[in-house]
Amino acid sequence: MRDFTSELEQRKQAGLYRARRQVSGPQQPAITTDGKLLLSFCSNDYLGLANHPETIEALRCALPETGLGGASSHLICGHHEAHHRLEERLAAFTGRSSALFFSTGYMANLGVISALAGRGDTVFSDRLNHASIIDGCILSRAKVRRYAHGDVAALAPMLAETSGHKLVITDGVFSMDGDVAPLKELAQVCRDHNALLVVDDAHGFGVLGPQGRGAVAELGLSEADVPILVGTLGKAAGTSGAFVAGPEILMDYLVQKARTYIYTTAMPPALALATRASLDVIEQGDERRSHLQGLIERFRREAIALGYELMPSRTPIQPIMVGNNRTALALSQALEASGLLVTAIRPPTVPAGEARLRVTFSAAHSYEQLDCLMQALSDCRHLLNKKGVAS
Ligand SMILES: *Cc1c(COP(=O)(O)O)cnc(C)c1O
Repeated sequence: MRDFTSELEQRKQAGLYRARRQVSGPQQPAITTDGKLLLSFCSNDYLGLANHPETIEALRCALPETGLGGASSHLICGHHEAHHRLEERLAAFTGRSSALFFSTGYMANLGVISALAGRGDTVFSDRLNHASIIDGCILSRAKVRRYAHGDVAALAPMLAETSGHKLVITDGVFSMDGDVAPLKELAQVCRDHNALLVVDDAHGFGVLGPQGRGAVAELGLSEADVPILVGTLGKAAGTSGAFVAGPEILMDYLVQKARTYIYTTAMPPALALATRASLDVIEQGDERRSHLQGLIERFRREAIALGYELMPSRTPIQPIMVGNNRTALALSQALEASGLLVTAIRPPTVPAGEARLRVTFSAAHSYEQLDCLMQALSDCRHLLNKKGVAS
């Protein structure tokens, strides 16, 4: 049998061991973890809706109507009116013809890619795409070609030399770098080469675009430009689940073929109604989004002044580049000693040599809380060499 114990030991030696921490109480900037009160800058609750009174109240009101459990898959007897109403709301919100509610973003990507591409087809995937996309590509059994991050000029000739069915997939906002994909150019190159474009806007949904309609809406890209839009509901929307939106034909096709939609229990219907309430808050959330933007801009100014290396990101994902795994951990630990929770992100989540602190912002953060972060980052600056990379 394989020596699992020594594999774990090797991970620890390499600074790659992952440990979970236990949170008590709701998700919010001031969070209790492992019994300690910390100020968190690492959740994906970008609008501060994970603990919002209106969505909690919507869930409470829905429960007596719908009960709790999903009880069955959608195609047996689990497709509840509440799910259907959420799907209609999501389609309208994203400006798509129809939408399909999935249990998680991970499952949505697995289902979409494996349903829409198969043996003999080719999937083109950005090198920095999320793990769920990578896994969906593998599951599809299609030929997978990865293109350099955000590099449409590199993708175009790859598409040109490939015949047969082609699917191009990209994160809208990249989860570990925070930059936005060149969606307009991708839509054009996909049109030129008759490829189906899929955009996973897990981190743009709720945050970017008019009323938080996402990175695709920000550029005014229609369903003809981006036929398949994936979004997650556990991040800015503050609830749980995910959706795929696009033309009715494709949604119908997914209902027939997406195994992660077919062979799993429907989400609790009350949760779908809570998510509907969350969409109302998102739609009316311009103040939240502009506060969030203010935090991001001030953070960038002050972190750069301290000599930290940031990524070209205008989104709530603001990684501080470190490089070395152990240095990233040391920085994270030093911040924790000052009462801050900022997790170190190491390979394989990011490429080797690109360990970082993934700082994320939420509309629930105050400027005073940002000041605490900046003070601690100033105090920890000596852990990195002058250039801001690992010493
Ligand atoms: C978080 C994330 C997912 C997975 O969504 P879950 O609902 O958490 O499973 C998918 N794609 C991207 C880009 C993500 O960041």
